[in-house]
Amino acid sequence: MKIALVGNPNSGKTTLFNALTGKQEYVGNWAGVTVSKKEASLKKSFNKEAIVTDLPGAYSIRPFTSEESVTVDYIKEQHVDVIINVVDSTNLNRSLFFTTQILELGIPVVVALNKVDILKGNIDIKKLEDKIKCKVIQISASKEEGLEELIDDVYKESKNEEKLENIFKLEDIKDLKIQDKKRFKIVNEISKEVLTNNEYEQKETLEDKIDKFVINPIIGIPLFIVVMSFIFNLSINTLGPLIADNLVAIIQTFQESLKGILASNGVNDFLNELLTDGIIGGIGAVLGFVPLVMILMFLLALLEDCGFMARIAVIFDPIFKKIGLSGKSIIPMVVGYGCSIPGIMSARTIKTEKQRRMTILLTPFVPCGAKVPIIAFFTVAFFPDNPLLFPLVYLIAFTVIILVGLLMKKAMQVEDIKDYFIIELPSYRIPSAKRAFFRMLDTAKDFIRKAGTIILICNTVVFMMTSFDFSLNLVGEHIDNSILATIATPLSVLLIPIGIGTWQLTAAAMTGFLAKEEVVGTLSIVYAMSGAINEDFELINSVVAKEAMGITQVVALSFMFFNLFTPPCFAAIGAMKSELKSNKVLLKGISLQIWVGYMVSMIVYQVGSILFYKKLGEGFLVAIILVVISLFGILSITRRANNKNESMKLNIE
Ligand code: GDP
Repeated sequence: MKIALVGNPNSGKTTLFNALTGKQEYVGNWAGVTVSKKEASLKKSFNKEAIVTDLPGAYSIRPFTSEESVTVDYIKEQHVDVIINVVDSTNLNRSLFFTTQILELGIPVVVALNKVDILKGNIDIKKLEDKIKCKVIQISASKEEGLEELIDDVYKESKNEEKLENIFKLEDIKDLKIQDKKRFKIVNEISKEVLTNNEYEQKETLEDKIDKFVINPIIGIPLFIVVMSFIFNLSINTLGPLIADNLVAIIQTFQESLKGILASNGVNDFLNELLTDGIIGGIGAVLGFVPLVMILMFLLALLEDCGFMARIAVIFDPIFKKIGLSGKSIIPMVVGYGCSIPGIMSARTIKTEKQRRMTILLTPFVPCGAKVPIIAFFTVAFFPDNPLLFPLVYLIAFTVIILVGLLMKKAMQVEDIKDYFIIELPSYRIPSAKRAFFRMLDTAKDFIRKAGTIILICNTVVFMMTSFDFSLNLVGEHIDNSILATIATPLSVLLIPIGIGTWQLTAAAMTGFLAKEEVVGTLSIVYAMSGAINEDFELINSVVAKEAMGITQVVALSFMFFNLFTPPCFAAIGAMKSELKSNKVLLKGISLQIWVGYMVSMIVYQVGSILFYKKLGEGFLVAIILVVISLFGILSITRRANNKNESMKLNIE
């Protein structure tokens, strides 16, 4: 039997999917989280054989956004036996619009009236069943109540041979606007009749009162900054290092004892170093950050789950509108703090193409989980007395998004769209530690999987390339003659104006395109930093790291920003490609990202050199030329946009 879960966004489909199948798919406390379908078989405890599919949320059969069409195409093309229409009982009126459309598809439907645990009023189930001529079961997906009954009824429906009657007879109305109007009217009448004592919409709840405070920008934004700083400090400066400390000590002990054992057994020095310093040391440098990232993800997941993030999205909505984006764009960006890929994919909820593209290209500027080690490494190693720098980096990322967004708005001539904000504020609730735990585990799994594959390979290759020259002689101390140095040196010339014109930094940034975690791994190899992360672990021993790298604080910052704001890793570029569906746009987008990363780093380096070291940075002249060219570029984009506006005005007049 094939069962499809359909319903409005945020109705609880994914929660129900998880409860029915025993999976742990990511449940977001807002709309737009499920953007592609997921399939799994029904849990054994239901004693029925069935495949359950969770489809993206939709408001209507007629698709407005690309994710809605996934739902509709699937229902129409796959041979679904029964549809479970998940209806948010606290939002009956709106949900029923879609329900009445689904009932017309000719496939058996069972309505799962979800979230009855928080329903304040009453719904007359018998009457509702009678009106829509379809079985209605009350459930609570999150408390796993009513599910047995639901599946029993689904099973019964699948055996039902009766032809489904088309009760509303709206299909015959050819004018879709009129059809929709009629449908709204019918749905309104039904919900009025079946809803009794519905306090839900009438009274101002405690929640509404709290929201008045939280959604007010004057309170909300400082509150957001305080909460975020607290979370960052806990994960990066206090609790995280405490755990990482032990982990790194274990890795280090293992590394050292293996080195000893191999040496005493007469293993070749080079092989010994490759295995211990290169492979284990490099992976250790990355794994050392796993606890920090895990704690960060756990806390952010709690924050999202309790309903806070959705409120933040509402506060930022007006700011986003100003740069031509819709309020919906905030969702991909918030999802992007974990990983840009699901962030980029969740941009599918955005209706207009230009805004969708902008969002896809801006999302990678949000520092993802894999970039956390880079930020942690540089802020802690080079600015150990500056705990605020870490949250500040996120604030800078936000500013970059706004500025680049404004530029794109001009360049792409995006018009302000007065769409209302569609995020529904989810109820405040005690966040589920279980859900947060699973998200944290996901991140950890991802890190460890990468450490065992791409990072392992990268480290081996980087180590080999730094050990040999092109004639395959061991370079020993003369690492500057190595293959990696020979390849990276000419490229590093390009990076002189941003202060990172050494082959080591260039090579590290290059490997970052494979996986951002690798930046730290490569640094630890090319600077032979094994031991930089030592037992007196303060994330990374700042003295050793600083000495090994021999770069200034300003260069460290410039390098960090270069890695944060230039294009994301290959996997994310792949996601951008498949979502943008145009190589031309992709190419423009990547060029834009390279330009942004370069400019930010260059400004940090050049201005920083003058302010802090009272001298001009290297490549100052080139930097000035690049700034002038960029300014001209920006000016011409603005002028073109203004001209177009003028001519449009003339046309209208
Ligand atoms: P989807 O967008 O339809 O997949 O919805 P989700 O499964 O992501 O759920 C949206 C929100 O509703 C989440 O915050 C869930 O925790 C919450 N939710 C889902 N089912 C229930 C329920 O039965 N009761 C309550 N109180 N909340 C629920």
